[in-house]
Amino acid sequence: MIQSALDLRDRRAGFAALEAETFDLLVIGGGITGTGVARDAALRGLRVALVEANDLGSGTSSRSSKLIHGGIRYLAQGDLGVVRQAANERRILRRIAPHLALTNPMVVLAKSKVGLKGFQAAIWSYEKLGHVDKHERHENWDLDHLKEEEPAVRAEDFAGAVVYPEYLTEDGRLVVANARSAAAAGAVVMSYAAARRLIFEGERVSGAEVEGTLPGETQGSRVRAKVTVNAAGPWVDAVRLLEDPGADRRLQLTKGIHLVFHRERLPVSRTIIMNAVDKRGIFAVPRGRFVYLGTTDTFYPEPSYWPEITPDDVRYLLDSAEPYFRLGRLKETDIISAWAGLRPLIGEEGKKPSEISRKDEIMEGPAGLLSIAGGKLTSFRSMAEQVVDRYEKMVGHKSEPSPTDEQPLPGGDFDLSMEALRSRLGSLGFSPDDAWRAAQLYGREALDIFVEDRGPAAEARHAVLSEGALTLEDYWVRRSARARFDDNGGVGALEEAAASMGVLLSWSEAERRRQIEGCLSRRGRELQALGLAEGL
Ligand code: FAD
Repeated sequence: MIQSALDLRDRRAGFAALEAETFDLLVIGGGITGTGVARDAALRGLRVALVEANDLGSGTSSRSSKLIHGGIRYLAQGDLGVVRQAANERRILRRIAPHLALTNPMVVLAKSKVGLKGFQAAIWSYEKLGHVDKHERHENWDLDHLKEEEPAVRAEDFAGAVVYPEYLTEDGRLVVANARSAAAAGAVVMSYAAARRLIFEGERVSGAEVEGTLPGETQGSRVRAKVTVNAAGPWVDAVRLLEDPGADRRLQLTKGIHLVFHRERLPVSRTIIMNAVDKRGIFAVPRGRFVYLGTTDTFYPEPSYWPEITPDDVRYLLDSAEPYFRLGRLKETDIISAWAGLRPLIGEEGKKPSEISRKDEIMEGPAGLLSIAGGKLTSFRSMAEQVVDRYEKMVGHKSEPSPTDEQPLPGGDFDLSMEALRSRLGSLGFSPDDAWRAAQLYGREALDIFVEDRGPAAEARHAVLSEGALTLEDYWVRRSARARFDDNGGVGALEEAAASMGVLLSWSEAERRRQIEGCLSRRGRELQALGLAEGL
């Protein structure tokens, strides 16, 4: 039995629910920031509406590096508060969604003994400050150990390595888990519903006019709320302009890309941290049968759902990684998929992309619109807490703090270890690779979803009935992650998934084909960007 199912098929009922009351909070944007705010507010007992212009998580929040950072990277910037906060948030996510916070050891390679000592000292201070558990503390590896554990790395070029754990998540599914949790606590969640205009009462924002964005849709709602939160990620400035057409631009977008390889081609067992050709840190992250290489950091002028991947981006990552491995030249033809995302950073004049702070900021506009931008996936829960605290201050409301740090996210209610879950999935007939994937994506719920059937049809059915999926792309890219982590970009799953979704969403044969063609053409464009147009 699936608890907290999010079924968004009845559009008419959804738009009617948005109109039916005056909400305490209207959240614009269903990425990790917006769904986190909706969950926090709903669990505090507030009436909440959340509208997302496309699919849940379809913006930046499904295009990150998927790492839940412990905060060591902030140590170098001397920001001890952020270090403590990141370490704490990581612990909480592990508690409420263990499957979305898998231990992911990082191997930091040092070129010299001095560099090695410096990093060891830094990580030691981090572990003290962040109250890192004993079993999660770092290890020091000499060259023999490095050779034995990570034979693909050119160990002879280094003086040694420090290994410490970070966590690996599946960002798109973390968003959906938050949306489901918010809806289960009473929030009205609506995807494919864009806020086009704000509603004003006197000089104050009192909600938004929302329009359906599914093809051919003409429905919409006037959503009324005491406070409206703008969590539109890269589009935060566009929504701020709806409040104040003269508002200054505050965001500076930077693009990051990732390239995915089969693990046999880039055989690493842990995340390897490297210095790119321009000395920025980049990494190779193992995930199931695959490894991904990321990321870049370059200015990007305007928000876009599909920022393009250029040959320069690809070469930068391939050239930077190559000297670290004894694998022969990594080539474009080795890449099986790729993605690009835009960081919605708060602009800082004169700084390079990688120097701009990742700190979040809440901005209150002249008519009371609360905008939130910057930040990381890692800090979504505490960002949400700050936004809802701010709401309570604005309306003079006092309530209990939200139990977001205790209440499990869907799939996170574990009464067994991840290993035990994988082994139970094995006894349902999953191969070890498939059990790893199902446990990571679905957590404890995998045991309920795949009792009778498994594979794309069962996943797609669950995506529609419980995870708010309304298009084939929602399933292929964000619910199943097959577009990125499956052979040939998961196109082999499309027919089966479309057949299963078509029944539930009453697609005609023409609509079913249109959905499949849409995904194939997206895949075609991705291959073209990688210089592999003939791959399909
Ligand atoms: P988004 O996810 O973009 O959500 C905003 C949503 O608002 C979108 O879905 C959009 O469709 C919607 N929207 C826009 N306009 C409207 C409207 N008018 N009406 C309704 N909806 C609207 N963080 C980490 O912690 N760890 C990492 O490893 C990491 N790696 C990263 C790597 C890259 C390359 C990038 C780009 C970011 C990375 N981040 C990482 C940062 C993290 O991904 C972002 O901080 C976070 O996802 C931003 O989430 P968001 O909800 O604010 O924005």
